[in-house]
Amino acid sequence: VSGRVVIIAADRAGRPNDFPVPGALTGGRPAECPFCPGNEAATPPEILRVGDGARWRVRVVPNRYPALAPDGGRPVSDPAAVTTRPAAVGVHEVTIEGPDHQGHPAAWPPEVLGEVLGVYRLRLRALAADPRLAYAIVFKNHGAGSGATLAHPHAQLMGLTFVPELPAREIEGARRHTAATGRCLWCDAIRDERAAGERLVAEAGGLVALVPLAARFPFETWVLPARHQERFEDSSPDDLVAVAAMLGDVLRRLGAVASDPPFSWVLHTAPLGPGAAVGFHWHFEIWPVVTRVAGFEWGTGVFVNPMRPEDAARRLRTAAPTRRR
Ligand SMILES: [Zn+2]
Ligand SMILES: [Zn+2]
Ligand SMILES: [Zn+2]
Repeated sequence: VSGRVVIIAADRAGRPNDFPVPGALTGGRPAECPFCPGNEAATPPEILRVGDGARWRVRVVPNRYPALAPDGGRPVSDPAAVTTRPAAVGVHEVTIEGPDHQGHPAAWPPEVLGEVLGVYRLRLRALAADPRLAYAIVFKNHGAGSGATLAHPHAQLMGLTFVPELPAREIEGARRHTAATGRCLWCDAIRDERAAGERLVAEAGGLVALVPLAARFPFETWVLPARHQERFEDSSPDDLVAVAAMLGDVLRRLGAVASDPPFSWVLHTAPLGPGAAVGFHWHFEIWPVVTRVAGFEWGTGVFVNPMRPEDAARRLRTAAPTRRR
């Protein structure tokens, strides 16, 4: 009815959980952690390993409890029905971001996080070769309360046969802007934000960090390339080190202003497929978990942010980024 797509994945209910109580702050013990070195057999056979043998630096494995599977489920179609149930075809992978169970990306040198981003890029490129897939998204939940079920640093990659609602809305908005002006919506926004300066957080290495005008959460921050670039996958290794440096900088600023909150980040890049990128401008959205999403937000899709974006940006801008550990 609403055009909403939901993935029903009852198999995921059996997945291990370091946070059995919502919001619990247990970290999980390395001995029982499927992502720790020595426990490699606890994950499905790996797709990719960076580093030598037991001294690996990054691993990519299929999600043991996938929301989607390459062979999908059986589609159910009834022409008379209001709803349809297509097969849940797709890819669901986990990137294990280093051997350190207690690791925090805010503490990683840009070269280390840059290597992780290089793995994101590699897998995105691999998924782009699958003609069934329309969109690929990388996201990361870190810390209890962010949605993470395991404490060990990891990100997830999902390849989807459709463009999901949020990127689809961005793509549509950008398309309208480009049709009206001939220019990129994000490039124009970056130009305006630089001129005003009010919502700017940091600028370095060809990257801009800013609090978006319609921030949904306090301290929500976006990281974008200052020059027009449609696909994250087109970044060079040097670009990725600069992106890593900026993400680390933003996380350390967040640590300073919001006492190291759990957070999620999501990478929005252009849809897969030739010609699909036109007008898009990739970006990371970083969402610290400092408020709760509740009935009003779920019921309306409208977020109530108790903090003006300009105030959030000023506090982040003037924060001395704290070095973790
Ligand atoms: Zn671990
Ligand atoms: Zn642009
Ligand atoms: Zn976005």
